[in-house]
Parts: sequence; structure tokens; C-alpha cells
Amino acid sequence: MERTPESLLHSVFGYQEFRPLQREVIGAVLARQDALAIMPTGGGKSLCYQIPALLFPGLTIVVSPLISLMQDQVAQLTALGVPAVVLNSSLEWEDYRANMGQVRSGKTRLLYVAPETLLTERLQDLLTGVPVDCLTIDEAHCISEWGHDFRPEYRQLTKVRQRFPKAACLALTATATPRVQADIQEALGFKQRRPFIASFNRPNLFLEVQPKQDPEAQTLRFLRRFPDQAGIIYCFSRQQVDELAAFLQQRGIAARPYHAGMSDVDRRANQEAFVRDDIQVIVATIAFGMGINKPNVRFVVHFDLPRNIESYYQEIGRAGRDGLPAHCLLLYRYGDTKKIEYFIDEKEEPERSAAREHLRALVAYADSSVCRRKALLHYFGERFPQANCSACDNCAHSQAEPGSASDLSIPARLLLEAVRQSGERFGAAHLVEILLGRPSEKVVKFGHDRLSVYGKGRDLPEAAWQSLARQLEQQALLERTEHKGLCLTDKGRLALSGKTAVMGQPLPTMGQPPASPKPGPAPGSPIKGIPLLQYDVVLFDLLRKKRKELADSEHVPGYVILPDRSLVEMSTSFPLSLDSLAKIYGFGEVKLQRYGRVFLNIIQDYSRSQALNKAKSRRPLSRDNE
Ligand code: ADP
Ligand code: ZN
Repeated sequence: MERTPESLLHSVFGYQEFRPLQREVIGAVLARQDALAIMPTGGGKSLCYQIPALLFPGLTIVVSPLISLMQDQVAQLTALGVPAVVLNSSLEWEDYRANMGQVRSGKTRLLYVAPETLLTERLQDLLTGVPVDCLTIDEAHCISEWGHDFRPEYRQLTKVRQRFPKAACLALTATATPRVQADIQEALGFKQRRPFIASFNRPNLFLEVQPKQDPEAQTLRFLRRFPDQAGIIYCFSRQQVDELAAFLQQRGIAARPYHAGMSDVDRRANQEAFVRDDIQVIVATIAFGMGINKPNVRFVVHFDLPRNIESYYQEIGRAGRDGLPAHCLLLYRYGDTKKIEYFIDEKEEPERSAAREHLRALVAYADSSVCRRKALLHYFGERFPQANCSACDNCAHSQAEPGSASDLSIPARLLLEAVRQSGERFGAAHLVEILLGRPSEKVVKFGHDRLSVYGKGRDLPEAAWQSLARQLEQQALLERTEHKGLCLTDKGRLALSGKTAVMGQPLPTMGQPPASPKPGPAPGSPIKGIPLLQYDVVLFDLLRKKRKELADSEHVPGYVILPDRSLVEMSTSFPLSLDSLAKIYGFGEVKLQRYGRVFLNIIQDYSRSQALNKAKSRRPLSRDNE
């Protein structure tokens, strides 16, 4: 088969389609044009050079300032079967020499280097004998004195660039004002000056601000909604970090602190434990996060006010890099601005005025009663066109405002009955399939096509059932089980028996668009256009345990073996053959070959035991009936 960016995306990475601008950037690089690409964290910058690297005959050099990130990338590429090595000062001489040998032999596709390493004579010598097709500069804003993270050794890269005039040069960053953009392109001597700028909107992040009243209790309540899921809590001071971490530990939460006052060893150990899924929560000052690539961070809590909008955006950006829903909570009280002002006052003009301005923007954001996403994007000079983003607290509230309430008793009873008949353990998506009479793999597997409610909801469109499920949950007729299925509350049983009526937002009917204003998801529920987090949690847990086992034996973080999204998809669609497994997110050819059988066995065993349970649980019932 011909090797194209599309075919490699599928066969090597196991992804379905490109994210915005990835394909365009790859096209420019392959045409050996210089390119500056600006994408938010999690936007998928790495693929922009990794795919060309697989198509170019020569070497791709990737300059990156963070040693831990380089090693992480190489681990991920190695797991995909892509030859990549790293050269930096942290390596033992023997490994260093071995890696140089790999580069010299021409087998290596990607070489990750620290800028100061690239500038050494040894490396310059090595590279005279090796054809270089692409020079990638990650975190390219470090080249600019106007950026927030200027690094003098980056400035020297200008010279390196001149040594490889035929290679494409790709500069990547997540933050760049027009001034920094111009600076990067100027410093690297770009011929083409048309940066690729992706939207800064991260649709999978739910944005919420709560008045800070009893922050420990608020945090604890919040964490209870995310059992077993990883997250970061940011605090203003080291002392606060230590206190909150201890508070959470006492309440049985696997939390560890991280701040600059700790020893290097302790800090590294805690970060490692977080990345390897050994603990759930890291409580940290802003010192935490730069070198973190963990894609399955499901929430970020700001226990204290961040210093400004930029740092807030950067910190929440560490959530949900894998594209699955993630929740960002800011606990806000105006009094907290005093602590920040204190630091601002120490600064000199004009920095001081600028810092005040940035803080004011953040306060306006926190106080705002309009769409938070709109406000945030506006700050970054981007317009968010929709009236309602449906993934921030303000939009969710405005949607839930009682308009004209209508009587939903009849469809509500049907949905509650579906919950009851299927055993009070499935999520809304599955219940809707039952009601609409869709014989999906899962519906058939559980025998739900034989329930009396199967297909009884065909009078209403899918959107109506989804809206109804949300409303019933909001009204506490349904609640989430431990495993995220829906079960009946006492109130729900009353409604099911017909003793109480159910009132709520009108439902969309057949052939009509949903009523306006649309009933939106409650905070934390699935977001439109984002893959649903509704899956068989028991199976997910089995798969996750196996992943952890494999990861520990290979000394890598779990996501290097497979991302969460792969596990979620497996526990949603129950693939029972290698062919169907190949369609699952993240299963490229190499991963399929390495891990396919292992995971398939688990899914097959689980499906078999489920079928068995089903048969057992039906038997006593039929005997009663006899
Ligand atoms: P960035 O460097 O911009 O923060 P990454 O390159 O680390 O982002 O990508 C973030 C995550 O998204 C990674 O886990 C990556 O594998 C995944 N990813 C990137 N591109 C795609 C795509 N087209 N489809 C699915 N997942 C992708
Ligand atoms: Zn909004």
C-alpha cells in the first residue's frame, strides 16, 4: 500500500482522522516549506512532524527544552514501532554512544535533542554525515525575548538552522502573541511567513467557577464525583499544598504534594507516581506541569486564584489532552486577589501595570455571568460564534432555566421502566438504544432486545430521550451508580409507579429541531461532539489493570501502552476479534500485534462470564413463573 499521511495515521497511530490543521502543517513540511504552527496544548502538535518523519528518507531532528518530555515521546514512539532516540546530558555515556550509533546507521527516524546538546561539536560532527530532512523546534516561543520563557540557548538555533538549508523547519508552540510569532519566524529565517494558527477552544473541557466558601469541603465533594480518575489541584502557596494534601490523605484520597520547597527526590517520586497512575491526585503549586505529558488528566481544580488568565489557561490545558471530557473547577473569592496583588506590587513598572491588567482580566472572567468559553477565547483574540457552548457552568444554567414546563410523565415512566428492566446499571446511551429498538452489539449481548420496553420509544427522536435522561438525573429521579450507570432513586420509583407526575423542559419531537433554549447537560455529563464516557466500568477496570501490569513490566506510564480512550472504546463496543479490535482508537499495526491478543482474551472472557450470569439470573425467575 502507498504510504501517505492518511495511511500512516491509521496504520501506525491507530487514529481515524486528523485534528484541525494537522494535515495542512504536514503538507507544508512535506513540501519542505518552513512553517510555524500554533496549537493549544493537546492540539496534537507532535503528529505534525512525526508523520513527515516517517515519509522522509532522512532524519528528523526535534529540539525540545524538557528532558522528561523527550524521553516520554521516545517511549511512545518506540511502543508504536517507530525508531526514535534521544540525546541529552542526562544519558550515561554508553547509552549516548549507542544512540549516536543508531543515528549514524540511518535507522533512526527521529532524533530528540536538547538545544545545548545540538550545539556541541560532537553532535555537529555526527550530523555532517547524516542527511537531515526536517528540523523541528518544539516550544519555539523560547527563542523570543518577548515570550514568557526565553532561553538563550534557543537563540543559538539560528546557526543550526543555517547548517541544514535544504531541510524543512517546523516551529511549534502553544503560546504566541503576534510579536513572538514574528520573532520566531525572523530568528529562524523563514521564507514563508504564514503561521498556522489553530483555534484555542478546547471543547472537551467543562469550565466551572464556584464561589469559594468552604474550599476543603468543596474540593472533597468535587473529588467524590471522580473516583479513580486522575487530576491536579493547584494551590497558591507551598504551605497550602502541604495542608490540603494532608487533609485529603486523611480522608482516604490518594493525594501527594508537589512544590519547589520539596527535595528533588520527593518531587520526582510524586510526579512519577501520578504519571504511572499509582496515586489519584497531585496537589501542587504552579511549579508542577511543564514536563507532564499525561493525557488522561480528568480534572484540574484551582483551589486558589491563578495569577492571570494565561496561567489559568495553561493550567487547565493539562486536563483532557486525550480529547475525552474533563472538568475544570475554579474556587473563587475576591479576597484571594490580595495575595496576588502583594506580589504584583513587588514588580517594577511597566511589568507591574501589565500584571495588574492580566489579573483584572481573570477577575472579570471569574465574575462573569455569560459563557466562560466566550470570555476566555475573547481574551486570546478569538471569537466563539455559538450562543451557548453547553460546556460551562453559565451556559448549563441558562439552559436549565425553567421555560414552559411540560408534563413528561408518560415518556419518563417508559425511560424509568427501561432502567428497571435492564437491571439499573446501564448509561443513558444504552437505554436510548433499547427504547429505540436498536439491536446494537451490546443490546443483543445482554439480551435487552427481548425486554418488553425494547422499541417502545420509537415515537420520540433520540435527542428527546437523551434530554429526558438528563432531566431525570437533574431532578434526582435517576442517579449514577458507582459504575456510572443509571439507577432509580426513591423519587424515581414513585414516578415509575405513576404516583407522581414528572414535569420538565419540553422534549424535541419527531422531525422538529430540539426546543429552544436547548436543555443542556448538567456539569460533568457528556459534551456534544465529544465521545461519551459511558462504558462497562467492570470491563474497563479489568483492561486498566492489565494495562498497568504491562506498563510496569515495561517501565513506562500506562498511556504509552494504550491511552484511556482505547480502553473506553473497548468497554463500549466489546470487540471480539482482532479485526474489530483494529478499529479501536490507538490500535495501530504494532500495538495490535503486541497487545491485541492480551486485551482480546480479557474481553472474550468477560463477555462469556456476562452471558453466563445472565443465564443464571434468568433461571430462578422462570421457575417462579412456573
Ligand atoms: P500537544 O503537543 O499539542 O500538546 P500532543 O501532540 O501531545 O499535543 O497530542 C495530544 C494527544 O492527542 C496525544 O495523546 C496524541 O496521541 C493525540 N492525538 C494527536 N493527534 C490525534 C488525532 N489526529 N487523532 C486522535 N488523537 C490524536
Ligand atoms: Zn458557555
